[in-house]
Amino acid sequence: MTRIRKIVLTEDEMPRQWYNLAADVKCPPFMSPDGPVPPEAWESVFPMNLVEQEYSTQRWVDIPEEILNLLTRWRPAPMHRAYDLEKALGTPAKIYYKNESLSPAGSHKPNTAVAQAWYNKQFGTKKLTTETGAGQWGSALSFACSLVGLECKVFMVRISFDQKPFRQLMMQTWGGECVASPSTETQAGRAILEKTPDTPGSLGIAISEAIEAAVTDPSGTTKYSLGSVLNHVMMHQTIIGLEAKKQLEKVGEKLPDVIIGCAGGGSNFAGLAFPFTLDKINGAEIDIIPVEPVSCPTLTQAPYVYDHGDTAKMTPLVAMHSLGHGFVPPPIHAGGLRYHGMSPLVSRAVEDGLMAPRSIHQLECYKAGVLFAKTEGIIPAPETTHAIAAAIQEANKAKEEGKEKVILFNFSGHGLMDLVGYDKYFKGELSDHEFPIDEIAKNHEVLKGYPKP
Ligand SMILES: *Cc1c(COP(=O)(O)O)cnc(C)c1O
Repeated sequence: MTRIRKIVLTEDEMPRQWYNLAADVKCPPFMSPDGPVPPEAWESVFPMNLVEQEYSTQRWVDIPEEILNLLTRWRPAPMHRAYDLEKALGTPAKIYYKNESLSPAGSHKPNTAVAQAWYNKQFGTKKLTTETGAGQWGSALSFACSLVGLECKVFMVRISFDQKPFRQLMMQTWGGECVASPSTETQAGRAILEKTPDTPGSLGIAISEAIEAAVTDPSGTTKYSLGSVLNHVMMHQTIIGLEAKKQLEKVGEKLPDVIIGCAGGGSNFAGLAFPFTLDKINGAEIDIIPVEPVSCPTLTQAPYVYDHGDTAKMTPLVAMHSLGHGFVPPPIHAGGLRYHGMSPLVSRAVEDGLMAPRSIHQLECYKAGVLFAKTEGIIPAPETTHAIAAAIQEANKAKEEGKEKVILFNFSGHGLMDLVGYDKYFKGELSDHEFPIDEIAKNHEVLKGYPKP
C-alpha cells in the first residue's frame, strides 16, 4: 500500500504544550470606562486559573497530564488526504484536512471544553453556565462537565433550539440542562422578550444570559464558560495545528501553501492556523484564510473596533472586528458562524496582514459540502462547508495556475445533527442573502463614544 489516506499519530506523539499566539501578536487590552480591565475584574465570571491563561503572553504552555488523558478519548485526530475530492476537481493540488468530527460531540469544541471543565474543577467550581448557537458548544461542554463532575446549564439561541431538538437530547444525555434564549430566567432575556417577543435570538443575547446566570448565583461556585473568541480558548485549540505539523512531516510535506478554516468566533480556524502563523511570522510564505458567511461578514466587512462581546453589554470592551453588539444575524443554517464579533487574536492578526479573510455564500458552501460527502464520505457541518468551499476555490486556482500546491483545511465537525439545513438545500428553499452594508454603520452608532484600538 503506497497511498496513505489517513495520517495517524499514536497517543505518545500528542503535543505536550499549547501554543499561545499572544506571545507573538499583541492585542490591545480589554477596556472599561475606567481604563484597561485588570485580571481580578473577571473573578466572578471565570476561575482565576483560566483568567491567568487569558492574560498570559507565554509562548508555550504545558498541557496538564490529566487534560491529555481526557483528550485521548478521541485524540490524536487523524489527518486525511482528500484523494477523491482532488480527483473530482481534477486539481494538481494536494488537499489535506484535519478531521475534528470524531470527538464525542462531533466537532473541535471538546478540545477546549475538557480543558475549561478541568481547570474549573481544580478551582472549586461546581456549575458552569454557557451559551450555544447551533448546539455544538452546549453539547461539548455538557460532555466535558460529565467527565469531570460539574453541573452544566446551557442557554441555546432560540432558532437553533427549535431547529435542533437532537442537540438538546445530547446535552440531556450528558447531564446538561438546556433552555431557549432569550429566556424568562434572566433580566437580560426578559428585557429582550418584552421588546421583541418573536426574536430568533442571537449568540450575543445568549452570552448575556449565561453570564448573568453565573454572576448572580449567590453561592459563588457557578462560573461562566465561553466556547470561542477568548485567547485561552484559541490556545486550547492549537493542539489541532500542532498535531497537523507532525502529521505533515510524516508524509514528507514541508509547510502547506494554504491554510483554511471556517470562522465564527475563530477557534477551530485558530486551532489549526496559529501554530503555522508562527512560521509565517518567522518568514514562511503561507496563505492563511479564515472563511465566513457573506450574511455575517465580521472579518471581511466589519471594522476593527472596541465593542462588547454580548448584547446586554455585560462584557468589557474587546478590540475586535465586530458587526456591532446589537447585530442579530439572518437565520442562516451555519448557526456557529452567526456571532457579531471575532477572536481578538484573529482580528489583530488580520489587521497585521498575517491572514486574508474571505466570505462565501451559503449555496456555494452547501454545494461544496455535498461534493465532499460524495467523494470523501463524511457529511460536513454547515459551518465546515465554508472551509471546504474555500479549499475547492483554492484547488481550482491551483489547477488554473498548474501548481501542485499543498492545501490544508480544518474539518471542524460533522453535520449529522444538522440535516435540516441539507433538507432545505435539496428542496431549493435556501437562497443567498447580500449583506445590507448600511446595517454595520447603524449598529456602530452606539459605539461612537468608545475608545479606539
Ligand atoms: C462552533 C463551530 C464552528 C464555529 O466556531 P469557531 O469558534 O469559529 O470555530 C465551526 N464549525 C463547527 C463544526 C462548530 O461546531
